[in-house]
Amino acid sequence: MRALYPGSFDPLTLGHLDLIERGAQLFDGVVVAVLRNPSKNPCFSVEERLEQIRRATGHLPSVEVAAFDGLTVAFAQQCGAGVILRGLRALSDFEYELQIAHTNKSLAPRLETLFLATATAHSFLSSSVVKEVARFGGAVDHMVPAGVAEDLTRLFNQASPASL
Ligand code: ADP
Repeated sequence: MRALYPGSFDPLTLGHLDLIERGAQLFDGVVVAVLRNPSKNPCFSVEERLEQIRRATGHLPSVEVAAFDGLTVAFAQQCGAGVILRGLRALSDFEYELQIAHTNKSLAPRLETLFLATATAHSFLSSSVVKEVARFGGAVDHMVPAGVAEDLTRLFNQASPASL
């Protein structure tokens, strides 16, 4: 069975990567899918995020990386995925994730959502926290893959204070 792991990944964190690695152990294939969401104002373009994920998952031959828009369930069907993979960090994730899971189940009853509990070491990580730390010059090497840390440094060093 294949799994779809959808998200914004703006940017990919070590928490996301841990979930992808564990998903790759559980499933024949994992499609990591970056949502093209014009309503969010991302730091990295979809293409940059795809490249970050590709670089970080190069050691996982069963992992594919793709971008999508529209309904997650429609993209899961298009990929031939039987499972949507999501991570749960804390109780605060639960309510939102459960609502999405029920919605997706109502749209595509044969598609299951599987939640993996975040690795303890990564449970405090979110893309927003990483961006906040990087924006103010803090070290993020223990939070994101090496390539992403470089991208963040470049992004926030180049940006003028007014645009931050
Ligand atoms: P969203 O899809 O809500 O925009 P993200 O792109 O940040 O959110 O996350 C995609 C998925 O990865 C979600 O299921 C989220 O709960 C999970 N996730 C986020 N951060 C972590 C982490 N530190 N460890 C494991 N899973 C995470």
